[in-house]
Amino acid sequence: MKHIRFRYLILGLGMMFLVGTAGQIKETLSDNAKVIHKIPTTHKVVAITIDDGPHPKTTPQILAVLKAKQVKATFFVLGEEVERFPEILSQEVAAGHEIGSHAYSHAHLSRIREDKIDPEMEKAEMVISRIAPKPTLFRPPGGLYNHAVLEIAGRHHYTMILWSVDTKDWSAPPVDKVVDVVLNNIKPGSIVLFHDGSYPLPTAQALEIIIDRLKEQGYEFITISELLEYYEIRPTLSLD
Ligand SMILES: [Zn+2]
Repeated sequence: MKHIRFRYLILGLGMMFLVGTAGQIKETLSDNAKVIHKIPTTHKVVAITIDDGPHPKTTPQILAVLKAKQVKATFFVLGEEVERFPEILSQEVAAGHEIGSHAYSHAHLSRIREDKIDPEMEKAEMVISRIAPKPTLFRPPGGLYNHAVLEIAGRHHYTMILWSVDTKDWSAPPVDKVVDVVLNNIKPGSIVLFHDGSYPLPTAQALEIIIDRLKEQGYEFITISELLEYYEIRPTLSLD
């Protein structure tokens, strides 16, 4: 008798565990659905995104390439760097690029105290808005987020943008390597991650080659807001 009760106890605990785990999985899945990594589209459109600037050396190099190639990109800027180099953000805006927020100090928002998350978003928004339109796009530093980050970003009416192609250019790989990563992984609707945060980076040189090669393949470069317009909701099952 005692033995049977014990088995029920174990079974009960097991079920509680399963229900708990399922609840967690559900929350994670719905959280992930709120974050955009790429856009499902059949059109050959992609977005170049550049994080961590503005930087007095890297950003002007990148801006020069984008201007020469007549490409618009989306810069996810840090509030702290905007305060240091406001004139470079002005150049980005004047050139017609889109500006999103990358928070204020690059603190990893899922790892800081919950009451520190909102000030990171708020301070960045304040300094960016002095120069650029109020940001509607947000990219969490390190791509790290949790439920609290999503909730607070939601209160700011941000669309959370991550990426589908990671060049890892911040680690200063050779130009060829950055080019290969992009050419081997690009698809219609891709969001490509670059950086303009530290110097020297292979980014500007790599972009020059990447833009030419992808244009040859028929790709068009657009900003994140423009890319969002290409979101195709298809009723049929898709393989990707
Ligand atoms: Zn970053």
